[in-house]
Amino acid sequence: MAVAVAVAGSDRTYAVFRISPRGMNTSDIESASVQMMSRHQQTAKYLNGVILGALLAFFASSTLPADTTLPIFDTHIHYNHDNWASFSPQAVLALLQQAGVTRALVSSTPDDGTLMLYRQDPKRIIPVLRPYRTPADRVDWFRSAEVLAYIEKRLAQNIYRGIGEFHLTDVGDAATDNIARLIQDAVKHELVLHVHSDAEAIRALFAIGPQVKILWAHAGMSAPPSLVAELLGNHPGLWAEISLRAGDIAPDGRLDAKWRALFLRHPDRFMVGTDTWATFIWSDYVEVVREHRDWLHQLPKDIAVKIAYDNAARLFTR
Ligand SMILES: [Zn+2]
Repeated sequence: MAVAVAVAGSDRTYAVFRISPRGMNTSDIESASVQMMSRHQQTAKYLNGVILGALLAFFASSTLPADTTLPIFDTHIHYNHDNWASFSPQAVLALLQQAGVTRALVSSTPDDGTLMLYRQDPKRIIPVLRPYRTPADRVDWFRSAEVLAYIEKRLAQNIYRGIGEFHLTDVGDAATDNIARLIQDAVKHELVLHVHSDAEAIRALFAIGPQVKILWAHAGMSAPPSLVAELLGNHPGLWAEISLRAGDIAPDGRLDAKWRALFLRHPDRFMVGTDTWATFIWSDYVEVVREHRDWLHQLPKDIAVKIAYDNAARLFTR
């Protein structure tokens, strides 16, 4: 995309920008990120971070306008600390506007990133409380009494619609006092848990709290349609968002038959998301949203509208 070439001045950088959000596995994405971040840092030597953000927004806005005929509720946005120098809250909100994203579920490390966006545009931004004060919390947040106290103090602000996105990399991580307490909090305050885990951990969470509502991040990241269908069938309190899954759902841009059948079978249970987990994704944001619109348009219109917007609006707006 022109934005990356113009700013970073490298064809290889361009390639990383374009393919990262698509059908790569997690380790590919992470290694691409490492390459990208070092180049990004080099670029940042020459350009003040805020100026870089303004330039990116300028170049993005000078490309073809996004197809905004289908409003999008993006259910997977982070505005993490390492994004702040490159993209101001105003630049991020301008990208959402340009992409036709009229509502967004935002969680950030630390949570202050979410609050910055929410204060600028409380109608568009739906805050979700991320348990991570720093990236290091991701490792053991589910065992930390400090993190639990932090979560409950923040929840008292009463602005959040969920807790997450958090990671459970092992099913044993779900069997802790923190998780039991969070499930209680979530049920009591009608909050949705946004969970990045495999199917086994999702089953474990429902075993602890059958009444809890869960948004399954990336539909399990690598879970095949048959497994996603099994979980949705067994757990009425489960929804799935398909950020980072466009490469599986629509390889080469054509909607896969098994995913299509899954969307038709559970039209009320899916949502779209982008997952802006690293700064370079913001540079490609409009294109990532456009990619989701492309396969959504291959579904019957009423189902596309549900997945693009209505399902999330029903679950997350009051
Ligand atoms: Zn995730």
